[in-house]
Amino acid sequence: MQRSEARTEFMNEQSTTIGEIEAAIRTIPDFPRPGIQFKDITPVLADPRLFAGSVRLLANSVGGQRIDTVAGIEARGFIFASAVALQLGAGFVPVRKKGKLPYKTLEASYDLEYGTNTIEMHVDAVKPGSKVLLVDDLLATGGTAAAAAGLLAKLGAEVVAISFLVELTFLNGRKRLSGYQVHSFIRY
Ligand code: AMP
Repeated sequence: MQRSEARTEFMNEQSTTIGEIEAAIRTIPDFPRPGIQFKDITPVLADPRLFAGSVRLLANSVGGQRIDTVAGIEARGFIFASAVALQLGAGFVPVRKKGKLPYKTLEASYDLEYGTNTIEMHVDAVKPGSKVLLVDDLLATGGTAAAAAGLLAKLGAEVVAISFLVELTFLNGRKRLSGYQVHSFIRY
């Protein structure tokens, strides 16, 4: 057996608990602004077992339903969503901040605490009727995910579920995502 194969097998055999992933998430106070408790998931990504475990949790959140495409939200959502797409045998499409995608786009704006934010998808990113799992690292107010889900719906996709590794429950983001299947694994 090749070393890389042995390593993959090793990671798959090791079960990762949600508690272990939670313990690796680092809270950085007052980043990027005073008052924000930033949940830093980079230590999870740096540990192959925790990264694989996180991807498995997100991929299994659809309970075996067929998924054609996994959509990831810039930027940390890309990291998880592309790995989830490979695990599910699905394609990956990016939901990006305005001005980054080169082809024709559809955009959606949503309110932030101060001002607005705009996200975009390519107009041909998903096929009408395709089944999509939307992934991001963290659910806060839900504005970003609601806008992304709205774009996917406009493009004719069926949003099967929206899955996050982390949820800040005190911000009530789920309220903005009512009507969707929402999954999260680590809650603050
Ligand atoms: P929201 O639209 O308010 O749900 O914000 C979600 C997006 O902002 C996600 O892409 C998160 O990565 C990021 N985000 C918001 N709040 C935090 C936080 N406290 N820690 C880490 N990321 C955050």
